[in-house]
Amino acid sequence: MHRQETSSILCNSLELRKSHGIKFYLESASVSSMNENQTPAPPPSHFIRKIIEADLESGKHQQVVTRFPPEPNGFLHIGHAKSIFLNFGMPRDYGGHCFMRFDDTNPVKEDATYSQAILEDVRWLGFDWGNRLTHASDYFEKLYEFACVLIRRGKAYVDSLSAEKIREYRGTLTEPGSNSPFRDRTIEENLDLFQRMRDGEFEDGSHVLRAKIDMAAPNIHMRDPTLYRIRKVSHHRTGNAWCIYPMYDFTHCLSDALEGVTHSLCTLEFEDNRPLYDWVLQEAEAPCLPKQYEFSRLNLQYTVLSKRKLIQLVEENHVEGWDDPRMPSLIGIRRRGFPPESIRLFCERIGISKSENNIDFSVLEDCAREVLNQDAPRAFAVLKPLKVVITNFPEDQVEMLDAPVHPQNPEAGRRSLPLTREILIEEDDFLEDPPRKFFRLAPGKEVRLRYGYVIRCDEVVRDDSGKISELRCTYDPQTAKGAQPEGRKVKGIIHWVSATQSISTEVRLYDRLFREASPGSKHEDGDFLRDLNPDSIQILKNCRLEAGMKNVEKGSRYQFERLGYFCADLKNSSNELPVFNRIVTLRDTWAKLTKSDQLKK
Ligand code: ATP
Ligand code: MG
Repeated sequence: MHRQETSSILCNSLELRKSHGIKFYLESASVSSMNENQTPAPPPSHFIRKIIEADLESGKHQQVVTRFPPEPNGFLHIGHAKSIFLNFGMPRDYGGHCFMRFDDTNPVKEDATYSQAILEDVRWLGFDWGNRLTHASDYFEKLYEFACVLIRRGKAYVDSLSAEKIREYRGTLTEPGSNSPFRDRTIEENLDLFQRMRDGEFEDGSHVLRAKIDMAAPNIHMRDPTLYRIRKVSHHRTGNAWCIYPMYDFTHCLSDALEGVTHSLCTLEFEDNRPLYDWVLQEAEAPCLPKQYEFSRLNLQYTVLSKRKLIQLVEENHVEGWDDPRMPSLIGIRRRGFPPESIRLFCERIGISKSENNIDFSVLEDCAREVLNQDAPRAFAVLKPLKVVITNFPEDQVEMLDAPVHPQNPEAGRRSLPLTREILIEEDDFLEDPPRKFFRLAPGKEVRLRYGYVIRCDEVVRDDSGKISELRCTYDPQTAKGAQPEGRKVKGIIHWVSATQSISTEVRLYDRLFREASPGSKHEDGDFLRDLNPDSIQILKNCRLEAGMKNVEKGSRYQFERLGYFCADLKNSSNELPVFNRIVTLRDTWAKLTKSDQLKK
């Protein structure tokens, strides 16, 4: 199935719910959209699985060895998760292992704090590299030896042209390049110069080591690419041991070979580098010949996945940091509350292919809903409270009402909801002048308090400014445990908490960071910042939680009934004031709202 189709099918299966994303339920409706009794489907196949299966079947390989090779120059994002699940997932499924390898050949841009964060992200997604944590810099000495092999075989030379001249000699896509005047240095001279480059005799930029391939090759990557350059800077792992650093195209393939990688899986922009990958391995007499396969990068709509843009969002304070719950970074997504299982489901669903992978944000949200619907305990939270006084309920009485922790999973146990004379309901659940099919509270109308009684609104009380300050209602004691009242049918059910026995909380409602699917694409200057959604965060400070929600653990996830899935913030939540992030609404409201509706929200 084509990827675009996947997302539209997922969108179309969702219904718009009224009233700002609040779901309403009718007496008999199931809260769940989960299809129980479903056995999990086997992971979908893709072209890389097919290649691996064929290689194992033919005996070409006995096991699958891969690597995940991030550059430690930023935090990982959801696009990296696609690569992580592929690289760690294949050896898990077929037998073998994956190296966690830092591609740390550029000493200037890298930082050890990124490395730690990257490891945490990979662990969070459920993978363990055992003792296979490596760095390209672990191989600097061996790489130097491979470079000497190339020189000795007449396949590499030291070039003393300036960077500018090298560029000039390279030619263009339509014209061949020309040979450097230093191309024919003798092997002895090259070995000597390369040794002296290593010894620090020369300044940055004065010499480079180049492969000797073909300056007229149609593929520009094959026109004597640079293999080593002089950089007199210290490296966060090797310190000042080196002043020459190997280039990506030389390092990556040989690191793969040194680790016995069988399938080197990378994104499509490396397709043109593949002939060079093969050439280096062959000519440097690598111990084995790994094969490179390319797949398409993930692009997620309504956000950006380029490291440069993400860094800009952070540095210019458009977000609160890399871990801002609106960021597509894995630490942001984790803090928002997405379970790692939902990222796995997402990666499975988007698949692996060579065609453009432009995925609607709602696909990720749906995956979170699916996982959370099954796993998250239920709770009542009132985000915008409206006081209700039940006038025929005795003042000092507390009635403990019984409710399931999870309606589809009896094993999750029960919870108790204290009903008192004063309760709080959602402001939106009352309308003075309701439209026809408004199954909630209105003057003279009845509604059921979820897991409690039917109440009727008798009177609306206003403050001096005319704003509704409380509703005065009566309850029908005959309607406990879902019993219908005599002679009337009450369809609507609303959630509530006790006004006197509930807990204060702050709730942060997040929305998409951008209002355009492809940020920046509609502006001539391509400025993605112009498409930031000004309403991507809404902080509600006067929210209340049901009484049982004392001491919630940071990072724990709940379904607040009718409102969505929420997670106790890993950073700001405390026992004194729990702070909840909305992970996702119960239903996709975005797809069907017009933009102006969205902005009014
Ligand atoms: P840069 O912006 O520096 O090019 P990068 O996104 O390529 O960064 P790396 O740290 O080099 O970042 O990525 C590690 C691995 O993750 C690479 O194999 C890369 O191909 C893969 N990867 C990065 N972004 C995506 C993406 N959007 N979809 C799938 N894989 C990705
Ligand atoms: Mg990269």
